[in-house]
Amino acid sequence: MKILISNDDGYQAPGIVALYEALQDVAEVEVVAPEHNNSAKSNALTLHSPLYVHRAANGFRYVNGTPADCVHIALTGLLGYRPDLVVSGINNGANMGDDTIYSGTVGAAMEGYLFGIPAIAFSQTEKGWKHLDAAAAQARELVQQMLVRNMVGTQPWLLNVNIPCLPLAELKPAKVCRLGRRHAAEPVITQTSPRGETMYWIGAAGPVLDESEGTDFHATAQGHVSVTPLKVDLADHEKLGYWAQSIAQLSAKAAA
Ligand code: MN
Repeated sequence: MKILISNDDGYQAPGIVALYEALQDVAEVEVVAPEHNNSAKSNALTLHSPLYVHRAANGFRYVNGTPADCVHIALTGLLGYRPDLVVSGINNGANMGDDTIYSGTVGAAMEGYLFGIPAIAFSQTEKGWKHLDAAAAQARELVQQMLVRNMVGTQPWLLNVNIPCLPLAELKPAKVCRLGRRHAAEPVITQTSPRGETMYWIGAAGPVLDESEGTDFHATAQGHVSVTPLKVDLADHEKLGYWAQSIAQLSAKAAA
């Protein structure tokens, strides 16, 4: 069993080191991760500048690119073999609800999924690496159980896992959840640069809108590990009929 590990916090982040160490005796593991913090880079690929891969003293390979770049390069030439599982994280902070769309941690896992490989994105619900040992042990347990139960086969799937910042003994069993929702983000923050220009800083994520029972927000607040299966098809299947009618009407009016 071979596992490719990446993340979005960069190859030196404590979260990826802990994940690597936790999975070391579960499978053959290799790390290909961004050189610098690439949080909120989603699925971005670098198309207009060259990418370089270097190897750190601990054997981790790092890339001057995005999380998706790392997994993409690894799968399309760098590794020279096809891993059985792609694992991303452990992220410094939650990736729940609408944040999942922006997450580089999820983006790295999704890149593996798009290549037909099962993939898991792991995040800790609070920043700061408190109880990281518990999160790593939890990630290890989940991966090991999946290997034992032959869930890592030829069929690709994509899981988004958020682990509460609690000691291992206080973590409650994994719960399968839908994604919660957030309100729109807080306003952009402006400052004046030393040269008199206006600088814009992306504001904080919006407050939680839907944290009802069944969501990832709800489960993790109760101390459960949340597991959300993700898909990539963005088409709004429920609204296909509505739009087919509406667009047909528009075309009919335009023709009249
Ligand atoms: Mn991150």
